[in-house]
Amino acid sequence: MLVDYHTHSKYCRHAKGELDEYIERAVGLGLDEVGTSDHAPLPGGYDLEHRATLEEYQGGYARAVEELVERYKGKISVKRGIECDFLPWATEWNRGFIRENDFDYVIGSVHFVGEKGRERGLFGQSYAPSELEDLNVEYYCAVAEAARSGLFDVVAHIDLVKKLGPCETRKVEDALRAALDQIRAANLCLEINTSGLRRPEREMYPGGRILAIAKDLKIPMTLGSDAHKPEDVARGFDLAIAALERYAGGRLSVYEKRQRSEVQVSKIRI
Ligand code: ZN
Ligand code: FE
Ligand code: FE
Ligand code: ZN
Repeated sequence: MLVDYHTHSKYCRHAKGELDEYIERAVGLGLDEVGTSDHAPLPGGYDLEHRATLEEYQGGYARAVEELVERYKGKISVKRGIECDFLPWATEWNRGFIRENDFDYVIGSVHFVGEKGRERGLFGQSYAPSELEDLNVEYYCAVAEAARSGLFDVVAHIDLVKKLGPCETRKVEDALRAALDQIRAANLCLEINTSGLRRPEREMYPGGRILAIAKDLKIPMTLGSDAHKPEDVARGFDLAIAALERYAGGRLSVYEKRQRSEVQVSKIRI
């Protein structure tokens, strides 16, 4: 069994392509399931560069996904996913949004750290080397808080912060370990996200060192390409599958109506 649970589409304003182009690509690659997981709306039109408004989401995206779930029955299982930002001030709003929508799984991401109004973003921003330790610690603390929030099923790209530059100090290491412990305690799943392979770091999220800790903690894992264009569906999955075999015994977590189960991963047929 093979799935790609992390894909975007034109609805989030910074990805390209129609939803059905992503699904067609997944069908062509022989995947068993593909999840649509565009960036969720946030209250007050927050960060509209990277997401739809609530109205666009409900009226456009959610309806389009429903139609595709039906249209592709028998060909591929289309899962209703979402990539939801963890922002401490938006937790109750997010909780309501998730409750009102019928998701198969919810991926939690940290793309912003810091207090409301003074957030530092992780989308395209860069920071001075002197800021990195602080940012890394804040980032991993936010990941731990996200895990504790009870909002999510899957933790996205857990070491996303590495894209700002390497920073492996004792404090960062402790914050990372605490985040992983919290993920274990909350019984969440880690995503092996191949988008890092397409970035200058040329390494998946998470890298091998974190995957080894996750293995020791017996944290379950799933797969996502974080495709922002249809060609990137399942891109790099040969490496991701190898990592899943090495660090999770080949047990792939899959979701249906927010219930997790495990299946044995299969090789990609390309
Ligand atoms: Zn995105
Ligand atoms: Fe993300
Ligand atoms: Fe994403
Ligand atoms: Zn993402």
